[in-house]
Amino acid sequence: MAKYSVYLGRCDTYSIEHIVSVIKVAMSQININKPIAGKIVIKPNLVMAHPKVATEGYTRPELIGGILEFLKDHDKKIEKIDIVEKSGLGITTAGAFRYAGYRKLKRKYPVRLRAMEEGRQATIVLQHAKIHPHLTIAKEMKERDFLIFAPKLKTNVLSQAFSGALKLNIGTVDSRQRMHHHHRDLPIKIVDILEAANPDLIITDGIRMAYGGNQMTQPGIDFGVIVVANNAVAHDMVCAKMLGLDPFKIDHILEAMKRGYGPDSMDQIQILGDYRFQDGQAIAKKLDFGFMPVNQYDCNFRIVSGEPYCIGGCQGIFLDWLHMIKDRKPGLFRKLPHLTVLLGKIKEEIEAKKVLLIGECATASTRIKAKGIVRIRGCPPSHKRIILTMLAYFLIINPLVRPSLIFDGFILYPIKKLKGWLINLQR
Ligand code: SF4
Repeated sequence: MAKYSVYLGRCDTYSIEHIVSVIKVAMSQININKPIAGKIVIKPNLVMAHPKVATEGYTRPELIGGILEFLKDHDKKIEKIDIVEKSGLGITTAGAFRYAGYRKLKRKYPVRLRAMEEGRQATIVLQHAKIHPHLTIAKEMKERDFLIFAPKLKTNVLSQAFSGALKLNIGTVDSRQRMHHHHRDLPIKIVDILEAANPDLIITDGIRMAYGGNQMTQPGIDFGVIVVANNAVAHDMVCAKMLGLDPFKIDHILEAMKRGYGPDSMDQIQILGDYRFQDGQAIAKKLDFGFMPVNQYDCNFRIVSGEPYCIGGCQGIFLDWLHMIKDRKPGLFRKLPHLTVLLGKIKEEIEAKKVLLIGECATASTRIKAKGIVRIRGCPPSHKRIILTMLAYFLIINPLVRPSLIFDGFILYPIKKLKGWLINLQR
């Protein structure tokens, strides 16, 4: 068997029976380097799930159900299974588990749901990292014997339109470390985290693919594939190609290749399965992934982008914010105020009535003549901060501004964080 194998299994339904049958066939054909035994951790993509506004961009529970059914039948040497996650946007992971339907899994299978911010954490010292000398991750993640990544097949404008197994790792670390160097260094950071959490097996939910728009609120389309792979880099190379992207132009995939985490050419990957690669490419070809220079976004704002251009930072996050409004509130999107928005350090003189400066670099721009200037600080500013500032100063009510999410983000999240802090204090 080849060292790097990626199995593409046709699956047009979220029936757990069908999913498990695809996984079983895949597992009989690919070579896993370790026995599936001991303490198993499953890491899904639950950056956000919500029945009204974030319906497609997360790993569906049926896929995890299929993995759990497979594990049940596979081996009796499994000690325990934890599903470990840290959701995004300062919303509780417990809420993401609930909205995504993962509590049903807990009732049906011997599995625990672990929300990183409220559980025990552990520090890992990294030997080969370029940005993070150490990382804080969930204790279960550190003590695991076998790690299964369960990403969603989706696009993401913060990572050059592609989000696969490597990018999933951003949800392995706590929020502070998540935002650290989350700018033009994002590709390097993603690969640093791989040292702490490199999956032994990847099983991807591509039954429906989430595409275009904002990574949380984007729409979805039937795609009909489950991807099973024994290496994260190989997985991402094949999936990127299947979506019509060039894996050699996606910086975090390139960085992982350079650091020896996987193959460095497509020839080294054995592609198996009954899903026709070309079928995926044909679907993807018709889709707009929404990845573009933010200053070319067609909207009422006049957007000026300076240096640096941070795909994973200010420019990317603001592009993601624009997509979010367009995805879920197209009426509001058309009525956005006429505002000048600066991202990155601007050298030329800017004259405008109202100016919004996003990020530390924009704030350092000196040649601005305006009656009103609003600053959103941070490098980069978080989605949450942008959402709140746009609401407070320009009365733009983001689609995520909903009572349930406000309660979750501003009441429950601090309580959960405090709980986690107290638990970790007792170590
Ligand atoms: S402030 Fe924004 S543009 Fe400047 S380095 Fe940070 S993320 Fe990039």
